[in-house]
Amino acid sequence: MNQVYQENIQVGEVANGLPLTIPVYRIKGNGTGPKVYIQANMHGAEVQGNAVIYQLLEQLKQQPLTADITLVPYANPIGCNQKSGEFTLGRFDPITGVNWNRMYHNHDALIEHFVEQHLESPISDIKQQFHALLVEKTQNLLNGPAHSINTGKRIALNLQRLAHNADIVLDLHTGPISAQHLYCPEYAQSSASYFDIPHTLLIPNEFDGALDEASFCPWWGLSDAFKARGREIPILVEAFTVELGSQEKIDLAQAAEDAQGILSYLTHKEVLLNSPYKPKPMKRFACMLKDYKAYYAPMGGMVEYSAELGAHLKAGEPIAYILRMERYLAEEPLHTLTIEQDAIAILHFASASVNQGTELYKFFTHYFEL
Ligand SMILES: [Zn+2]
Repeated sequence: MNQVYQENIQVGEVANGLPLTIPVYRIKGNGTGPKVYIQANMHGAEVQGNAVIYQLLEQLKQQPLTADITLVPYANPIGCNQKSGEFTLGRFDPITGVNWNRMYHNHDALIEHFVEQHLESPISDIKQQFHALLVEKTQNLLNGPAHSINTGKRIALNLQRLAHNADIVLDLHTGPISAQHLYCPEYAQSSASYFDIPHTLLIPNEFDGALDEASFCPWWGLSDAFKARGREIPILVEAFTVELGSQEKIDLAQAAEDAQGILSYLTHKEVLLNSPYKPKPMKRFACMLKDYKAYYAPMGGMVEYSAELGAHLKAGEPIAYILRMERYLAEEPLHTLTIEQDAIAILHFASASVNQGTELYKFFTHYFEL
């Protein structure tokens, strides 16, 4: 039985002066495998990842491990408390309007100098020292004058400092109403088949402020910079955003299954010894990020979403009905929306009332089997 350690880290203060804290759980391994960092609930309504961390802890306690695993539920203590009536908001900082998952720091600027200094270093030194540099530079930002960092950036930097210690980073999210899907950097495509997730989005080396990108972009850039100097080194960190399903929902049985998929991936990465976890046989489909298409409401109205999430739709099939009762006598009140090309429906808007231009659905297009 592994010991689980808890530390509460302070990530800010609220208006009455009290500290904002986040629980950090750690389990130790024998030190031979890749370090793992898993967080959940950066977006307030996306709560299922907390249940997955619970189920992971229940399993990991009993499993011999090669590496240290850090698990952080409730990663954003402001987000999950941001309620309006019975709903949780928590996707955007209510003061600045900025997405909570777009405030991580881009450490690209460190790469060139580091490569110059390590042209001949063994890979193990490169790995250890670049991890240390990323952690140190993130800590330096936190050590700067308190007036130089806004609320969301301070939360993000505290999490990023923990994530930069790890070789494997999983950020657990959900869609609004959503099928499970995985954001996977293009170079890690072969790892996607170990998660029990049927839909994978393959993303390029572009930094847009999210934790997965903040975790893998520096290492992808490092590998590219070495290549430009004539030396091939692998990309030494893998990071994923795992979209577990729908927001505002805890499903403990589903969380146990979600945890099994993560444990199967961690088994593939040799984090677990004598592991019983294997990927489930299933058809897995992938789509390049550029082919992940938003479908905006062409008119305002009341929506019945008819496309089943995860369903493979043919061009011309109906995906939703829009009801416009103020036009009942003046025109046809019921409009059928169709999809123009073959697609997989991945997620849809959470509300039945929409403005013209609301993002109704997101679809995989030009998808292929993994
Ligand atoms: Zn999210």
